[in-house]
Amino acid sequence: MTWQQRIDGALEQRRASGSFRTRQANEHGSGRYLVQDAHRYLNFSSNDYLGISQHARVITAWQHGAEIYGVGSGGSGHVTGYNEAHQQFEEQLADWLGYPRALLFISGFAANQAVIAALSEKPDRILADKLSHASLLEAAMHSPAQLRRFAHNDVASLQKLLAQPTEGQQLVVTEGVFSMDGDEAPLADIAQTTRHAGGLLMVDDAHGIGVIGDEGRGSCDQQNVKPDLLVVTFGKAFGASGAAVLCSESMADYLLQFARHLIYSTAMPPAQAYALSASLNVIREDNFRRSQLHANIARFRMGAARLPLELRASQTAIQPLIVGENQAAIHLAATLRERGFWLTAIRPPTVPQGTARLRITLTASHTFEDIDRLLEALHDATC
Ligand SMILES: *Cc1c(COP(=O)(O)O)cnc(C)c1O
Repeated sequence: MTWQQRIDGALEQRRASGSFRTRQANEHGSGRYLVQDAHRYLNFSSNDYLGISQHARVITAWQHGAEIYGVGSGGSGHVTGYNEAHQQFEEQLADWLGYPRALLFISGFAANQAVIAALSEKPDRILADKLSHASLLEAAMHSPAQLRRFAHNDVASLQKLLAQPTEGQQLVVTEGVFSMDGDEAPLADIAQTTRHAGGLLMVDDAHGIGVIGDEGRGSCDQQNVKPDLLVVTFGKAFGASGAAVLCSESMADYLLQFARHLIYSTAMPPAQAYALSASLNVIREDNFRRSQLHANIARFRMGAARLPLELRASQTAIQPLIVGENQAAIHLAATLRERGFWLTAIRPPTVPQGTARLRITLTASHTFEDIDRLLEALHDATC
């Protein structure tokens, strides 16, 4: 088989499975409206949960940061790239979340890869929730440690795996809020079970941080849990991009020695760290954004319960409507698009076979009228 035959074969297989991925540039994509080809759609697919991507104060901070520091960091943080703007934002994060240290990464994907790669050795075991994000599962799969998945949100299943004898260390990995289902992990029980077995706990709170709990401190703070490694990302509620790992002094020092994604990669632009710091101030202060989001979630759920689609138990901004077959999900998304709504059909392999869905994300930028209009369109398309 030649290279070209292998690539053509893989593409053919994807097309046949109904899971072929495409993307199309838009003119504007992160706010309440998505604009594409001069059409304006109500956007129900954005992770900008609090509407901060368009916040004037954050935009001004990014501009101001670029004026002070320029647009690039100039190198790895281990050479010249680590700037006072990074340091100040890290200190602000550590203080907000109650950890000794925070380390910035260029993305959540990089942070998860880096941490898992830096920690795992051959006899170790990584025990991850079955529905963990691809960035976690793939890192574990490619690590020298053995990956075992426990049943979703099932502490007994985790406990059983932890109890199996091992010569190595055990790293337990889960999320605060699951990205495709919107449900929340029983973090207190998971933390207790992990600690009891002498394991290390890593929680990825990409979808909880900023949105859940007092001052938006996230799932762990709300459940009164302090994982050994807390990963927060800035592409969702923070409205920008990037990530941080919150941890102990020694863990931070360890990661600075061994996290290759930090050492061999250009640091985030200082202007971005400067803007993220402004974004964090907005997150802490603007309780009304979280209140609006939670009111929107309640309104959507009340209406969606009357539709002939499976609504999951999610209390978060992620509200999946399970359609089932791939083609049916694509068709429903297309029908809604014609009526002016932007929604994405999520299909296997991102979600399990037979659970193709519309992943609806609600944000603080939506009004009750936006939500009612979506519910009416969903009703017309499915009833
Ligand atoms: C979005 C997401 C990531 C990846 O973060 P990026 O900053 O977008 O790379 C990691 N984990 C979870 C659970 C996510 O939802």
